[in-house]
Amino acid sequence: MSGMDDRRTGLEEEYFHRKNQEAIEKLRAKMKVAEEAKAAGLSSMQCPRCDGSLKETKIEEVAIDSCDKCGGVWLDSGELEQLTKKDSGGWFRKLWNAE
Ligand SMILES: [Zn+2]
Repeated sequence: MSGMDDRRTGLEEEYFHRKNQEAIEKLRAKMKVAEEAKAAGLSSMQCPRCDGSLKETKIEEVAIDSCDKCGGVWLDSGELEQLTKKDSGGWFRKLWNAE
């Protein structure tokens, strides 16, 4: 009987892993655009919340922007919503719900 539970847990983990991979790929694509914009001299690196500047931070090989003053982490809202969904699981949930 417990074999069923193990199998289900394995499938869930695989699902979450795939979801994370999708999110990571999207984030990578987005950061590539941001890097290109930076290289082109288009400064969008000021924090929208305060006058701090956004710095690239790497989490699990993914670069995100975080503010050096207020500690805000910036993504576009659709992405944030997707990544913070309950079923996204994994490292991103840990990031947002840091205990
Ligand atoms: Zn800030």
